[in-house]
Amino acid sequence: MDFLRPTTWADALAAKAERPEATPIQGGTDVMVEINLDKGRPAALLDLNPVAELRDWSSEDGWLRIGAGVSYTRLIDELGDRLPGLAQASRTVGSPQIRNRGTVAGNLGAASPAGDSHPPLLASDALVEAESVRGSRLIPIGEFYLGVKRNALEPDELIRAVRVPYADGPQYFSKIGTRNAMVIAVCSFAVALHPSRRGVGTGIGSAAPTPRRAPEAEEFLAGELDWDGRTAVPDETARRFGELVARAASPIDDVRGTRDYRVHALAVMARRTLGWAWTEYRGI
Ligand SMILES: Cc1cc2nc3c(=O)[nH]c(=O)nc-3n(C[C@H](O)[C@H](O)[C@H](O)COP(=O)(O)OP(=O)(O)OC[C@H]3O[C@@H](n4cnc5c(N)ncnc54)[C@H](O)[C@@H]3O)c2cc1C
Repeated sequence: MDFLRPTTWADALAAKAERPEATPIQGGTDVMVEINLDKGRPAALLDLNPVAELRDWSSEDGWLRIGAGVSYTRLIDELGDRLPGLAQASRTVGSPQIRNRGTVAGNLGAASPAGDSHPPLLASDALVEAESVRGSRLIPIGEFYLGVKRNALEPDELIRAVRVPYADGPQYFSKIGTRNAMVIAVCSFAVALHPSRRGVGTGIGSAAPTPRRAPEAEEFLAGELDWDGRTAVPDETARRFGELVARAASPIDDVRGTRDYRVHALAVMARRTLGWAWTEYRGI
């Protein structure tokens, strides 16, 4: 196995153009597990850790640009106040050791339907900044996930950064696992309220071949919430929201949970996260 170790972003892009079959490695918390379990041996590893440009984040025009090398730990510590949904999800990833190494870009690269960063990225309309020697493009998060562990990157492309707008309202994430820590989601859900545009964002994890939104639920809730008066959400509205979220999923039975359990749990998580978000909104 060849080990490629560029030290600049330009060299990393050149290496990926020359060796499109090379597997990028950032934190290695997915890649190393695959190699150790002998699930295919890459012809080459492209180590992005020496590339200093990837370790930065910046902010511009209400957006955060999070470099592909920014760990979950740094995201939680440094950006948690501006991205509460993504920070909550990041806190549930693995253990402190995994969060010190693992990255949102790696979560996107792996594109597992169970990845914890996906629901909040969907709920807040994030963009994936992909780059190759041919140029750079922004992929809307809803177009990024193509199938189980498949994403929209071309073979010569790398993720440069993830762009996420500052939270413009309450954001919440909920995850069900078979225990409290170090666990892959049985299913997960994120909600983001966007009061400035009277909008609602959602993201469903681990309950379909790809992470996905629940557009009907979003539209329904946005039309029902009393944005100006901030009166309590009627039980019937919350129940219907939960139902529409559950209906947007297409889960399967697997070792972590049954289809029916996931459908039920999603409706519960949708109602709960809505309750937390609306309580926060009413208190602002
Ligand atoms: C013990 C343990 C517990 C875990 N718990 C969780 C959990 O609770 N929730 C969860 O979501 N995940 C969990 N994971 C999985 C993993 O930690 C996450 O998916 C993490 O986000 C991967 O980030 P990384 O930087 O380590 O990625 P890597 O392993 O380096 O890469 C992952 C994938 O992304 C690609 N990639 C990396 N960087 C780039 C880039 N810049 N451009 C293009 N492709 C790139 C790689 O080629 C690979 O396909 C766990 C893993 C372990 C070992």
